[in-house]
Amino acid sequence: MDCPFCNIDKEKNRIIKEGKYVYVVLSNPRLVDGHLLIVPKRHIEKPSELKEEEKKELLDTAIEFQEKILSKFSSGCDIRQNCRPFQKQSQLKVNHVHFHLLPREFKDELYQKCQIFETEIFRMLTEEEKEKFAKLFKG
Ligand SMILES: [Zn+2]
Repeated sequence: MDCPFCNIDKEKNRIIKEGKYVYVVLSNPRLVDGHLLIVPKRHIEKPSELKEEEKKELLDTAIEFQEKILSKFSSGCDIRQNCRPFQKQSQLKVNHVHFHLLPREFKDELYQKCQIFETEIFRMLTEEEKEKFAKLFKG
């Protein structure tokens, strides 16, 4: 299988921690300094395919490394999982579930180049939206 996360070279120093079900690796390419990925060892494409023991180790590992980032390196840390099946597999998109840990600082580069523009699309919910999405997700 041509999957970079199933075939990661464990001799390289990018592997930070290897658990029973998941490993932690330096993201390459990286979005910000200290960008980490938490990757299940088993090749799955969606978080819903994770087994209970994999979910537990993954969340425990995410919390452990978020705390490491906060205590040793940065004043903030985002945890993300991107689900974008509409994008083709590439260097920036891999069909093997992984979670990003992104060290963040107040008004950092990610904010300056991307998130500052999100403020333009943030809106208060309309009554119609509240009704529509509550009905959609409760159903
Ligand atoms: Zn894989």
